[in-house]
Amino acid sequence: MAKQPMLKFVQVERDMPEKRTAHVRTEDFDEIYQEFAAVKAEEQSSRCSQCGVPYCQSHCPLHNNIPDWLRLTATGRLEEAYATSQATNTFPEICGRICPQDRLCEGNCVIEQSGHGTVTIGAVEKYITDTAWEKGWVKANAPLAERSESVGIIGAGPGGLAAADMLRKAGVQVTVYDRYDRAGGLLTYGIPGFKLEKDVVMRRNQLLADGGVTFVMNCNIGEDIAFEEIRAKHDAVIIATGVYKSRDLDMPGSGATGIVKAIDFLTVANKASNFGDSIAEFEDGTLNADGKKVVVIGGGDTAMDCVRTSIRQGATSVKCLYRRDRANMPGSQRETQNAEEEGVVFEWLSAPKAFTDTDGKVSGVMVQKMRLGQPDASGRQAPELIEGADYLEEADLVIKALGFSPEDLPTLWNQPELPVTRWGTIKAQHLTGATEMDGVYAVGDIVRGASLVVWAIKDGRDCAEAILEKFNAKGAVAAE
Ligand code: FAD
Ligand code: SF4
Ligand code: SF4
Repeated sequence: MAKQPMLKFVQVERDMPEKRTAHVRTEDFDEIYQEFAAVKAEEQSSRCSQCGVPYCQSHCPLHNNIPDWLRLTATGRLEEAYATSQATNTFPEICGRICPQDRLCEGNCVIEQSGHGTVTIGAVEKYITDTAWEKGWVKANAPLAERSESVGIIGAGPGGLAAADMLRKAGVQVTVYDRYDRAGGLLTYGIPGFKLEKDVVMRRNQLLADGGVTFVMNCNIGEDIAFEEIRAKHDAVIIATGVYKSRDLDMPGSGATGIVKAIDFLTVANKASNFGDSIAEFEDGTLNADGKKVVVIGGGDTAMDCVRTSIRQGATSVKCLYRRDRANMPGSQRETQNAEEEGVVFEWLSAPKAFTDTDGKVSGVMVQKMRLGQPDASGRQAPELIEGADYLEEADLVIKALGFSPEDLPTLWNQPELPVTRWGTIKAQHLTGATEMDGVYAVGDIVRGASLVVWAIKDGRDCAEAILEKFNAKGAVAAE
């Protein structure tokens, strides 16, 4: 009888790629996980029980064919595993690195539910495509035939780039406009290198350019080119601009210097530490944690990225204030554990009340202690103030990581008819991204609000399909 290559979850324990020790990894901005060796990837893939109804797949936003690529990896058929994996995901090695797998595919793996520890789906997904890059299997798009239609995409984040990739593959003329100097959106300038090394993103950008996608960088739509101009130039336009308006704190002392926004801090950190750019605010210490007592306010993934970046920049202490407790924080538990290992101190059930300063420069945060009360309308326990428990937390750099909301695009672009929700996100059809403006689509965070890379990729792919369908239908009518 042939040897059964799968279902090894009883004999083989779950194992992640090795994690560099905290004192070593905090010395640089490189990723903290090593790569699986081939033998390890095969062994870990072989733990999958090849479920008839794979919950991992149904909880992956891209519905990746996970059981198939695990089986192909377990049996050494890596090139086929790569072909299967990339058929549904534009950037598998990026998702493998930064998806919150515990909430998506891995969190729903049946062997995890049966107490055996989930299949390490993300690490295998990363391994497959990193190997494909090494072996030269990842090739630039070469459309079989060029098409005359053109699509303008505003925003070179994962949503815009996923759409660009699919449209270009089909021969469409694609131009991506972005106000940054490098493509990738938050993959490039939000997410730090210790979660996602930048050459992983840059090689993807290059691949798209090699496949014929035109990038127009340093181009802020609404300032450098009017939205109408983009619309007039292309047969369809995709808005993929993400959400960049930082939620703020309005409390006594909040005008002091040294209180900064997370996105500014992380963008500069990425430019200076990952690309070696010379940035005045980094060099003059405005957006640099070196030698400082840092307090980060917030409990989401952005806050986790700020605390861990501060440690790597050489902060003397890093504290994170969050008004709920650990169990109720929005950020990933895995990232919180990584932060703790690296020396970050969490002050749970703590909220800022005011800032103190010396000569206009922040010197501390007045912290009020909270307890969790009754669940509110959202079902989450609301934090309640504990009277008389305030204390002063010393700080010479305070980073506000309180979330993001959309910029006011209808006003900024002088497009009052651009349909937006009451939160300012663009109103777009589910599964196509079509808005009520003819030929205008929207994808990613600008539609969903701050979300995840994998959802932006899904939106971009769905939208590209819808646009192609529309172009094909028009072509068919013209040919009649
Ligand atoms: P973005 O990635 O934001 O890209 C939008 C692009 O549009 C940007 O390049 C911007 O410059 C450009 N743009 C905006 N306005 C204009 C304009 N007017 N003209 C021209 N260009 C414009 N998600 C995960 O899944 N895992 C994580 O670990 C994770 N970590 C995160 C860490 C941080 C610090 C942040 C802020 C977010 C994180 N996210 C993470 C969320 C994830 O990055 C986003 O959900 C995702 O990038 C959204 O993709 P997008 O394409 O919609 O927008
Ligand atoms: Fe899991 Fe994300 Fe990969 Fe889907 S894309 S299989 S959710 S890591
Ligand atoms: Fe394999 Fe787990 Fe997916 Fe089942 S749920 S197919 S065991 S990875």
